[in-house]
Amino acid sequence: MNFSKIKEAEAAHYMPVFSRDSLAIERGEGNCLYDINGNKYVDFVAGIATNILGYNHPEYTEAVVAQVKKLMHVSNHYYTEVQSRYITRLCEASGFPRVFLCNSGAEANECAIKLARRYFKNHGGDKVILSAAGAFHGRTLATLTVTGNAAQHDRYSPLPQGFDSFIYNDFDDFKRKLTDDVGAVILETIQGECGVRPFSNDFLVNAYALCKSKGVLFIVDEVQTGMGRTGTLFSFEHFGIQPDIITMAKGIAGGIPMGACLATEEVGTAFSLGDHGSTFGGNALACAAADKVLEILQNGLLARSQEVGEYLGNRLAHFSKYNFISDIRGMGLMRGIQLSDKIPAAAFEGKLREKGYLVNVAGNNTLRIIPPLTITEQEIDGLVDALDEICASTNA
Ligand SMILES: *Cc1c(COP(=O)(O)O)cnc(C)c1O
Repeated sequence: MNFSKIKEAEAAHYMPVFSRDSLAIERGEGNCLYDINGNKYVDFVAGIATNILGYNHPEYTEAVVAQVKKLMHVSNHYYTEVQSRYITRLCEASGFPRVFLCNSGAEANECAIKLARRYFKNHGGDKVILSAAGAFHGRTLATLTVTGNAAQHDRYSPLPQGFDSFIYNDFDDFKRKLTDDVGAVILETIQGECGVRPFSNDFLVNAYALCKSKGVLFIVDEVQTGMGRTGTLFSFEHFGIQPDIITMAKGIAGGIPMGACLATEEVGTAFSLGDHGSTFGGNALACAAADKVLEILQNGLLARSQEVGEYLGNRLAHFSKYNFISDIRGMGLMRGIQLSDKIPAAAFEGKLREKGYLVNVAGNNTLRIIPPLTITEQEIDGLVDALDEICASTNA
C-alpha cells in the first residue's frame, strides 16, 4: 500500500482526532524506525516514552513470542504463574506491596482515583482530589477532570464532581487549596505532555510534607516518568518522598498495552471484592512482557539509562548558547528544549526528521526527547549534531 492510500483510509475512517506526521512506519530495529520507503530514523520519541527497549530487542522479543505460543489471555477468573511472577517482581522492585494491573495510563489513574475515593469512605467520608494546572493524567472522564486543560473540560462537561486544582509549582496556592475537604493530591513530578515541565524540588518536598501532616494521600503519576526514564526506577525517588499511590503505564511492558496502580498496604486494601476489575488487565502476554522489561532494567539497563541520561543532559546544555532556545529542561532520558515564540518547534521537528531523527513537540513550543533507554552515546551525538546544524542555520 502506498502512502497516499494509507493516508486516505485514515482520513475516511478514523475519527478525526489525531494530527499525524507525514510518515508511515513499517518496522523497527534497535533504536531506529524505518518508513514504508525504507528511510531510517533514529527514534527519540519511542512511541511516546513507551518502547524503552527500542525495537526487536532479542531477549524481550523471545520472551513475548514464547508467551504468545503458550497463553495470551484467560481473564482474572484464574491464576497464572506469569502474573504471579510479575507482581512479585514489581512489588519487590517498587517497594509498594499492592498492585492492580490494567491496560493504559488513563486506566491506572482512574484506578488511583477510585482507590482514593474508596479509602476516603473508610476515613471520614467523601473528599476532594487536588491536581495541578497543566497536568496530563489521561482521557477518561475522571482523568480528564484532573488533567489541567480548560478547553478539554469545556468540551466534555458536565464533568465528575469532587476535584479541584492548584497552580503548577506555586506552593502558596497549593497551601490555600489544601483545605480540610481535600483527601488526595495527584501530580507528575515532571509534566510530560505539558512540555517536560518539572516541579521544583522544594515544591515537591514541601507539598509532600504538608500532605503527610494532614493525612492527605499523595499520588504520583509515573506513567511517563517511571520505568527508569529519569535515571531511577521511579522519579519520586529523586525527592526523598514516599507516595501512597503511584501509577504506571507507557514503558511498563515495552510496547504491549499495560498499566499499573501501586499502593501501600493500608491504601491498597481499601478496595474489597468486586470493587474494581478489568478483563484484559494483567493478562499473560502483558505480564510476560512486563516481567522481561523489568528484569532487563534490573540487570543493568537502569544503571545504563542513568549514565546515558546524564550524557544527554550534558550534550543538550550546549544549546543554551542560541538566543532562540528559551529553556532546556528535564532529567535523565526525558528532556525538553523550549524554543522562543518566534520559531515554531514543529519546524525544527520537521527538519530533524529530514535529517533522520524523530523527536516530538509537546506543550509550549517544546521539542521533547524521550528515546528508548537503550539509546547510545553515538545516537545522541548524531541528534545533537543534526540539531546544531539546524540551529546554526536559523536566523532569529
Ligand atoms: C500518557 C500519560 C497518561 C495517559 O496514558 P494513556 O496510556 O494514554 O491512557 C497519563 N499520565 C501521564 C503522565 C502520561 O504521560
